[in-house]
Amino acid sequence: MTGETGEGPVFAGARITVDLAALRANYRHLAKLASPARVAAVVKADAYGLGAAQVAVTLSELGCRDFFVAHLHEALLLKPIVGDHVDLFVLNGLPQGAESACAAAGVIPVLNSWDQAMRWQSLAVETGRRFPAAIQLDSGMSRLGLPPQDVSRLAQEAGFFDQVEVRLMMSHLACADHRDSFANHRQCRAFNALADRLPPAPRSLANSAGIFLGAAFHGELVRPGLALYGAGPFDGETSLMAPVVGLEATVIQVREAPSGTGVGYGLSFVATRPVRIATVAIGYADGWPRRMEGIGAVHFQGRRLPIIGRISMDSLTIDVTSLPEGAIGEGDAVELVGPNQTLSEVAAAVGAIPYEILTGLGRRCRRIYLDGDSLEHDRCG
Ligand SMILES: *Cc1c(COP(=O)(O)O)cnc(C)c1O
Repeated sequence: MTGETGEGPVFAGARITVDLAALRANYRHLAKLASPARVAAVVKADAYGLGAAQVAVTLSELGCRDFFVAHLHEALLLKPIVGDHVDLFVLNGLPQGAESACAAAGVIPVLNSWDQAMRWQSLAVETGRRFPAAIQLDSGMSRLGLPPQDVSRLAQEAGFFDQVEVRLMMSHLACADHRDSFANHRQCRAFNALADRLPPAPRSLANSAGIFLGAAFHGELVRPGLALYGAGPFDGETSLMAPVVGLEATVIQVREAPSGTGVGYGLSFVATRPVRIATVAIGYADGWPRRMEGIGAVHFQGRRLPIIGRISMDSLTIDVTSLPEGAIGEGDAVELVGPNQTLSEVAAAVGAIPYEILTGLGRRCRRIYLDGDSLEHDRCG
């Protein structure tokens, strides 16, 4: 398997595969659902661990013109890669003292407070330029954005709108993943009422799940992250999106153990019969949850192999007794996320959400990009 992926034995360990063709299919699917609204891509946290550069370049080739990251430093890294023909927004706002850096890089802050709005306007006045911005309105999530009284105040500041070009008015849904939550409609109404107080600008409310709530939630721009990356936007429903992410790891040792053998830290697993145990090179430092002890499994040639014992930092152990002797050995790859076990299933097994698992995997796993038959390695790997 390592030979097939062409990455060589020095990289034996855990690897994420990112299917760029599936990513494109998901973008097109969401574009159809959201039309005539435009579809942005949320690529914060290194595109949820998939690689912001690869994801952004792939989607900009499809015509995506709007990207969102959380932090200014993420934007500063990504901007030279995506270029000046796209809008790159910083969701967490404009850090105090970073106004010039933000302007110099051509990055667009999401102005989340009165103070941020005034600082951005001041720099525009000082430099004699008109700066683009998004304005976030707090429609009821109480996380980020101008509260209603500051929206009214801003509406009185004609000078602000001379100095700042509002590319987007946005807000974020607290309960979008609960299709029937009344809070969604309440927030949608509140958002539009707040936006009506300000000069007209394109509106954006929906994340992935919000897109599936219907046209009333789409505005002019929708902001999916997770659905692009292939996970279903609704709790407990099977994914409507093409799977983008796979996870596999290499077997690094196989041993026979008699009944009574203890396995792993704390010897928390003790064999009650003779077993064959394989050690696999992925652990919690790669983002595989420690809570998978005793409940998780991996797959090999379609067969489910239970995880036994604790998850170590760099490895875990599986029971391979059900396989014929010699069927699995050092260098073989086992599937942790793939056709036999979806990301959502892994998350549900440990009471996590797919976002949490996905962003955790990005830290050490090597990324391999698949695109039809061709295969490309992570530029930064
Ligand atoms: C993270 C985020 C998104 C994307 O959310 P998904 O659920 O991954 O689609 C959209 N908007 C804001 C403000 C976010 O913070």
